[in-house]
Amino acid sequence: MDKTTKLLPLIPLRGMNIFPYMVLHFDVGREKSILALENAMLNNQEIFLVSQKVSKIEEPEEKDIYEIGTICNVKQILKLPGDSIRVLVEGMQRGKISEYKDKEPFVSVEVELIYDEQSTDDKKCKAYIRLIDKAFEEYINLSVNSFPDALFSLEETEEPGRYCDIVSSYLILKPQTKQELLEILDVTKRLEKLLLILKNELEVLKIEKKIGTKVKDKIDKIQKEYYLREQVKAIQEELGEDDENKKEIIEYEIKIKKAKLPKEPKEKANYELNRLKSSGNYSAESGVSKSYLDWILALPWNKSTKDNIDISKAREVFDKEHYGLEDVKERIIEYLAVKKISKTLKGPILCLVGPPGVGKTSIAKSVANALNRNFVRMSLGGVKDEAEIRGHRKTYVGAIPGRIIYAMKQAGSKNPLFLLDEIDKMSGDIKGDPADALLEVLDSEQNASFRDHYLELDFDLSKVLFITTANKLDTIPRALLDRMEVIEVSGYTSEEKFHIAKNHIIPKMLKEHNMDDSKITFSDNSITCIIENYTRESGVRSLERQIASVIRKAITEMVEKNKKSVNVTASHVKRYLGAVMFTYDKAETEDKVGVVTGLAWTEVGGVTLPVEASAMEGTGKLELTGQLGDVMKESAKAGYSYVRANAFKYNIDKDFYKNKDIHIHVPEGSVPKDGPSAGVTMITAMVSALTNRKVRHNVAMTGEITLTGRVLPIGGLKEKSLAAYRAGVDTIIIPCENEKDTEKIPKSIKDKLKFIFASKVENVLEHALLENTLNGEINNGDKTI
Ligand code: ADP
Repeated sequence: MDKTTKLLPLIPLRGMNIFPYMVLHFDVGREKSILALENAMLNNQEIFLVSQKVSKIEEPEEKDIYEIGTICNVKQILKLPGDSIRVLVEGMQRGKISEYKDKEPFVSVEVELIYDEQSTDDKKCKAYIRLIDKAFEEYINLSVNSFPDALFSLEETEEPGRYCDIVSSYLILKPQTKQELLEILDVTKRLEKLLLILKNELEVLKIEKKIGTKVKDKIDKIQKEYYLREQVKAIQEELGEDDENKKEIIEYEIKIKKAKLPKEPKEKANYELNRLKSSGNYSAESGVSKSYLDWILALPWNKSTKDNIDISKAREVFDKEHYGLEDVKERIIEYLAVKKISKTLKGPILCLVGPPGVGKTSIAKSVANALNRNFVRMSLGGVKDEAEIRGHRKTYVGAIPGRIIYAMKQAGSKNPLFLLDEIDKMSGDIKGDPADALLEVLDSEQNASFRDHYLELDFDLSKVLFITTANKLDTIPRALLDRMEVIEVSGYTSEEKFHIAKNHIIPKMLKEHNMDDSKITFSDNSITCIIENYTRESGVRSLERQIASVIRKAITEMVEKNKKSVNVTASHVKRYLGAVMFTYDKAETEDKVGVVTGLAWTEVGGVTLPVEASAMEGTGKLELTGQLGDVMKESAKAGYSYVRANAFKYNIDKDFYKNKDIHIHVPEGSVPKDGPSAGVTMITAMVSALTNRKVRHNVAMTGEITLTGRVLPIGGLKEKSLAAYRAGVDTIIIPCENEKDTEKIPKSIKDKLKFIFASKVENVLEHALLENTLNGEINNGDKTI
């Protein structure tokens, strides 16, 4: 091949190389280089660019410059501020310096044009190209630099030498390595070398990336946390919450100091405060800590009211606020007197027992008023779980203290009057018996250090005056009952209700409705009408409701009809309250066989209990129908056996249990009733039916029986006498042992009833049945008052 040479100006390149087909721009500052460039512009714009072996040499000599470089075409030159020039060149062809011609004013060299030595093995080249392709693509993906058009320009290139040069120009390599590639003229060898270099570069890149990711992850995590923390800070600052948190903590600190807590609660409070400081304002723990602190701070650890046990004042308050209830008032006065002398509050706990609405709660409130103590009430109705009394441990989600501590917080002093309502309505289950916890509360030996599960602190309940209420005694746990002194508050007679309504309820209700007796007045008849026809209860709660309803209706009438005042009469009541709701059962008006008026005690007070019996030919069956509870059925059977055993006494066919059927029926009443006190009534009905002797219609009776015919005492005598009186009877047969209870019966009733005290069934029958033709002996131990 002919050697072709060109004389060209030379610019030595520092730290870079240029391949043929490559476009490159660089700045030229050295004076010789600028002159070389100017010369090139004058001659065909061709220039020879070749790398310096060591880039930092300012004035390179021949030995400092590689021999092989690229003949380039100057495309553009741009004068930069200062003396330097930016130049854009395009590589044309490889060239080799064959001789240095001039050195001044710029270097010019004789350049020999050199060409690629093409390969004869096309397939080998293709294989190399494919491998390089793949590796280069991977290189591009891994590399941090972007090569937007690299793959595109390669697609267009078919000639292997040129392909190699283009790839080489994109790679970021040391100038020496690039120079090596530039100097290889054998295309196969150049491809081989390029693949080798690429593979090597890829390995390095992969390792770099791996290290990079690790470092980046680490940095990322740190940065993310930092960033988030900064963000939260910024938000809190923006919302003023950081300050708020601090403010809250300071507030707690002040409150704890001011509260003058006893030692243990104070320590707990400070401990919790420290926890609050270390947990963020919005963490779950901070909520728990705050509510715990709130509880400690809200409890009356040291606050108490000053007692004022002035007996005459107490009497005055009781009388002013409650009509009647003499026994109860007297008993409470005694209780207070003892407290005053002994100065300690230890002693039995009062338990007020009686039907609903008889004033148990309100008398307890009066006691608080009289003593000048705070009043707090807690209902035990339906309490099943010990935790309700003693609270849940703080570890429970949403735990709060038990009801005792809750009530103490409400009370606001450590010596309130604490009313435990409906103590007979608690029940235990698998979660523990609330009665056990209550025992601790009521026990004066233990309650100085009552421990709530939530607070985990001892709270002193020894200064509290507990009063309990119940409807009946039989469901109160025995151990609790032992610690209490029972005071019975029985139901009211119609007269008592009348006074309560007139002097207490009506004024109270008028006041609640913003009225007074200059605008609405009640005639006596209207009050009796409400009591008799619209209420049936031992207490006065529904009377209170009905009176309120009458007042509302009267106000409506005043507004509608533009009236200044209303005087409520019985006819007003009927108009306001509608059809009569209740009428009392009336006793029989004539003497009949087998029909007896018994008496029963129910939740709403005393009622009459008519019992009917008939005897008929049969096979000795005892049939019981109507409203008979289990206990009443037992009494009927016991009565039957008594009659069988004593048939001869009453002239009854001794074989009646074989040839007669007896049917006892207790008519359905509006109020369910059950109990043993119907015993005497059943026997009287059976004997009457079997002997055909009539029963006095003006006699009512009550009493439990034994198989041997003894008459045992019963409860609720006052209520039962009231019922008998209302039903229109004038004689009432009661067990001997109940004689003492007649003292509690209001005089107005006692005067109108004849009481017969029976100790045996014979006494009952003697007074209840007509035609005294009894056989055998009768114990005349009965007496009348
Ligand atoms: P209890 O606790 O026995 O169920 P409350 O104390 O709640 O009954 O009484 C119901 C209402 O009847 C209260 O408003 C109360 O003031 C009134 N009351 C009950 N007894 C009397 C009474 N003897 N004198 C005045 N008001 C009474």
